[in-house]
Amino acid sequence: MSPSSNTHTIACGSCKIPAQCVANPKANDEVTCPRCNRRDRFDNVMASVKKHVVHITQKKLNESMRRAASGSRIIQFKAQPLGNPSFRWVALGL
Ligand SMILES: [Zn+2]
Repeated sequence: MSPSSNTHTIACGSCKIPAQCVANPKANDEVTCPRCNRRDRFDNVMASVKKHVVHITQKKLNESMRRAASGSRIIQFKAQPLGNPSFRWVALGL
């Protein structure tokens, strides 16, 4: 899996449907959600999407570490609970 958010579809964090923006958006281009009309500048959207990607990546890592450690009496893995923070914009297909 590539950590690059460029390969993922940007979606509204509330509706979880693909957001709309121009092709090859620049930092000040607007991204909108077609359902709830949430809108933001592309650079703000990408900042939120990147946080979401990091969160999901960490979550998956924690899960695989926990699985790997569960069969071992030697390794004990204690993950920080990540909770379920809400993101204004998210990446689909992670
Ligand atoms: Zn929405």
